[in-house]
Amino acid sequence: MKTIKIAIQKSGRLNEKSVDLLKKSGLSFENYKSSLISPVNNFPLEILFLRDDDIPEYVQDGIADLGIVGENVIAEKQVDVTYLQKLGFGKCSLKLAIANHSDIKDLSGLNGKSIATSYPVILDKFLKENNIDAEIREISGSVEISTNLGLSDAIFDIVSTGGTLKSNGLKPFADVMRSEAVLIGKNGIAKDPVVFELLQRIQSVLRAEQ
Ligand code: ATP
Ligand code: ZN
Repeated sequence: MKTIKIAIQKSGRLNEKSVDLLKKSGLSFENYKSSLISPVNNFPLEILFLRDDDIPEYVQDGIADLGIVGENVIAEKQVDVTYLQKLGFGKCSLKLAIANHSDIKDLSGLNGKSIATSYPVILDKFLKENNIDAEIREISGSVEISTNLGLSDAIFDIVSTGGTLKSNGLKPFADVMRSEAVLIGKNGIAKDPVVFELLQRIQSVLRAEQ
């Protein structure tokens, strides 16, 4: 039988829950942080440990057959993959936020302003849908401090509790997208009997946790 490959995050917010879900699904494997790939001892599966940003393309291109990644990353990468299952963890929202003292009152107030983000594709789509002409400043990290530094008038970023916004003198302004971790597969892979069996097991773990 062909060995199916599933890509999960190597370290970060989704790693532990992805590993837990696979272990609860009856898979036995070593979670070596140092190795990129771990064989599963009791199922025809290999686990690839990757940066989350790489997972959508790896699955689209068939380097991995399956992947566990946030919907936010899939949307940003604009890949063509099959959604197999929402997983109920890694929940967050992508929000626009402005400084507490900002004079921006509504969405149209963003016209002519600059917005810092590491999600330029999702933001661009949202701005176009709302006929807003704003400048997108793409930055790779610490988006929350850009407004304080005078680099932008607003930010667009992941928010889960809102604590980071608050401690940077920012307030949420508009909800753009909700996200959670999902199981994705390369197109056509759902027909594979090994994938079907794994999906059944994952779904029964999720049902038991409800
Ligand atoms: P990597 O090193 O794999 O690139 P990362 O730093 O990009 O990791 P993490 O911060 O570990 O990513 O977040 C992974 C995913 O967890 C996010 O893409 C998102 O789907 C989800 N998530 C849930 N809550 C949050 C949060 N508060 N901040 C950031 N991501 C969150
Ligand atoms: Zn990442």
